[in-house]
Amino acid sequence: MSDTNPVIEIRDLHKSYGALEVLKGVDITAPAGHVVSMIGSSGSGKSTLLRCCNLLEDSQQGEVLFEGEPVAWKGTGLNRRPADPKQVTRIRTNLAMVFQQFNLWAHMTILQNVMEAPVTVLGRPRAEVEAKARKYLDKVGIGDKADAWPAQLSGGQQQRAAIARALCMEPRALLFDEPTSALDPELEQEVVRVIKDLAEEGRTMIIVTHDMRMAHDVADHVVFLHKGLIEEQGPPAELFGNPKSERLRQFLSHSA
Ligand code: ADP
Ligand code: MG
Repeated sequence: MSDTNPVIEIRDLHKSYGALEVLKGVDITAPAGHVVSMIGSSGSGKSTLLRCCNLLEDSQQGEVLFEGEPVAWKGTGLNRRPADPKQVTRIRTNLAMVFQQFNLWAHMTILQNVMEAPVTVLGRPRAEVEAKARKYLDKVGIGDKADAWPAQLSGGQQQRAAIARALCMEPRALLFDEPTSALDPELEQEVVRVIKDLAEEGRTMIIVTHDMRMAHDVADHVVFLHKGLIEEQGPPAELFGNPKSERLRQFLSHSA
């Protein structure tokens, strides 16, 4: 595989839940080192699209490629599934997801949360993982919280712990699903700061967000999803500065 392959590429993806067609032929490319922001109204299919990227959802039609390699599927229609569990594991461990609700394990300390997957899923030695975990906790500014329990942290600190946990997998790309939506505005900014730092480092990321300022500031490319289709996309300055579609104009006027 050449280095020029996008980390994630989705072509003509169609996804239905029963009779409800949620994605109606969507193409998304996340080139290595680029940040793609995805915006759109609630229910437009943003979370579903992210979940399709790391194969948490199956799909009815279209292609998902990881580093240029197509995901192999078997079956048709509702029975269509990825064919190779090893490929699924490899892709999932390389696309780390950060959720709106942090999803930290309440019965584990922050350090244990960050160490868990590299030790149990990747089988890495504990000492090596602990050193990395502490490094990433420092990086997101909560190195002093390693031995705390999730419930002892603010929402912004919990989300930064979740980001450290994602980084500790040393993934090829990070997928964020509304990472700041559950936070009070003052806590939101500490998470935005971390995401900006990651963008400046050249991390490959797809970020679903309601925060138009963050979408504008961190993205190389912005995608506006409307009812399961890409209505408009482009560089942030163009998309926010000179929106062409009426729907995007309306959406932006409501989210200002
Ligand atoms: P967004 O993240 O943009 O708000 P979602 O991808 O969560 O949108 O949802 C898109 C549509 O799919 C919505 O109408 C939602 O109700 C529906 N949907 C999402 N997940 C499921 C599911 N597991 N089963 C049935 N319908 C779902
Ligand atoms: Mg969503």
